[in-house]
Amino acid sequence: MAPTIDPSLRPWFDAAVANDGRSLWAWGTVERFPDTAGRRRLAGMAKMLTGGAEAHLRELPRDEDARVPDARVVAPETLAALASAEPRDRAAHAYGRAYPDLVRGFRGDFSGAPDVVLRPRTAEEVAACLDWCSDARVACVPYGGGTSVVGGVEVAAERRAAFAGVASLDLERLSGLLEVDATSLAVRAGAGTRGPDLERALAAHELTLRHYPQSFEHSTLGGWIATRAGGHFATGPTHIDDFVESLTAVTPRGVVATRRLPASGAGPQPERLWIGSEGALGVITEAWMRVQRKPRFRATASVKWKRFVDAVGAVRAIAQSGLRPSNCRLLDAAECLLHQVALDGTSVLLLAFESVDSDQAPLLARALELARDHGGVVASEENRSDAAEAGTWKRAFVDAPYLQSALVSIGIMGDTFETACTWDRFEAFHAAVTAACQDALRRTVGPGIVACRFTHVYPDGPAPYYTFVAPARAGDELSAWREVKAAVSEALHTAGGTITHHHAVGRTHRPWYDRERPALFGDVLRAAKATLDPAGVLNPGVLID
Ligand SMILES: Cc1cc2nc3c(=O)[nH]c(=O)nc-3n(C[C@H](O)[C@H](O)[C@H](O)COP(=O)(O)OP(=O)(O)OC[C@H]3O[C@@H](n4cnc5c(N)ncnc54)[C@H](O)[C@@H]3O)c2cc1C
Repeated sequence: MAPTIDPSLRPWFDAAVANDGRSLWAWGTVERFPDTAGRRRLAGMAKMLTGGAEAHLRELPRDEDARVPDARVVAPETLAALASAEPRDRAAHAYGRAYPDLVRGFRGDFSGAPDVVLRPRTAEEVAACLDWCSDARVACVPYGGGTSVVGGVEVAAERRAAFAGVASLDLERLSGLLEVDATSLAVRAGAGTRGPDLERALAAHELTLRHYPQSFEHSTLGGWIATRAGGHFATGPTHIDDFVESLTAVTPRGVVATRRLPASGAGPQPERLWIGSEGALGVITEAWMRVQRKPRFRATASVKWKRFVDAVGAVRAIAQSGLRPSNCRLLDAAECLLHQVALDGTSVLLLAFESVDSDQAPLLARALELARDHGGVVASEENRSDAAEAGTWKRAFVDAPYLQSALVSIGIMGDTFETACTWDRFEAFHAAVTAACQDALRRTVGPGIVACRFTHVYPDGPAPYYTFVAPARAGDELSAWREVKAAVSEALHTAGGTITHHHAVGRTHRPWYDRERPALFGDVLRAAKATLDPAGVLNPGVLID
């Protein structure tokens, strides 16, 4: 059930609604933040998950207590109509939504706030903003939904001194569905369009993008492209890369608009330079996206295993069978416990097949045969409707970000990290990464829970996603988190995985990304940056220096 608003929160709630209803520090809207009873229930559950550590409800922060530094620069008269220096607005653009962002926001520490927020309405106005930033040496941070979990929208304190100020370039006014090509199944949309708005507009044309990151509710098309976001589906088209047909980016050197094509063999693909460019190589203003008709046929099932290793074998067989299930989400026992999908110590695989065109039951039947060959027990199987476990999972998936914020408010550290590795090394990889996380938690805060699920699976390997929940010591949360994050990132890198499968690089993953990226490729990126952004003002610190 959706959490209700605690009446005692009203004054804070009313103040916070001044913007778009989003909390200044927590995930999503203030309305959906768990109430006191919900936080108490969570505290009880946290005690069970963290080996008995007591959680206490902390007083919730109030907007009026947010500490925002004085602005260092003021936008020129020519940009006055686009600029806001209002402290709440600047605070709202200070951070993304990673654990350290939530902690700092909860403490009222908005020292990372930009000096000015710019909201251009056209590509020409974006260019004017970039001109000012380049001339006045103001760092310019493109801002979509601000859901980055890797420090993507915050210029680090030590870099700020090199600039006269920091501008957050919010793309919210460059939004909406702009054109529909129903013949080619493609649409043009503004970069600032948020997930639900895009899907609502597409639904009117009986179309869908079907790109559902967990942050869907508040993230934007431009943000997805800039971070190479990964959607909810496990196989087949799910990454934003799969859907971009062409894009337009405004850079300090001029505009780049790529040609609409279904495919091309004409050299390296130009879009690729901006897909995953994290705001360092230009501002994506709009894109043509490949869309689909809504699926009409659906078949789902869930399968259980006593041993995670057997479930992994089954998932590999399915991923290599060519069947391409839309959902193939394997949850280990701890993940099942966390999300209340199963409480009996089993690992659960949620399987789904979907199609616009044809009955999926035969494909599901073949996948279940593969699962049974690996010792799986089919828990539920339905044609066209969600299996019970899948329904529970879906609700937990949507609510999880709210719960993470609520955990912060009861002094519990909860965070996730994600990766991908090849099947041949998965077993050793998983053991090393889990051990590194558990060791780091024990060293810093005490025992916690480490859970794993596969978000995506490929014929050559899975994308494991880890969640950890542990008690946090008040005042010490950030140093403990840094130590755990460094330990797990080191383990991911050393064991042969990637530092990120879909959360992007930002500033948090930079040290490991720098080691993962071939050195010469780094030089190529630096050369591209020097060409497109000669003053070096675009999102300094992400991807390259
Ligand atoms: C609870 C939660 C769940 C998440 N789940 C997922 C998930 O399932 N899959 C996934 O991939 N990610 C996930 N993320 C991470 C995040 O939501 C994605 O990286 C998302 O794509 C960011 O979009 P945004 O619009 O919020 O971008 P922002 O956070 O505003 O920006 C992210 C980066 O992109 C740049 N940028 C934004 N817009 C533009 C633009 N128009 N032009 C150029 N650069 C731009 C910014 O400068 C920054 O570097 C999750 C985050 C949270 C908090």
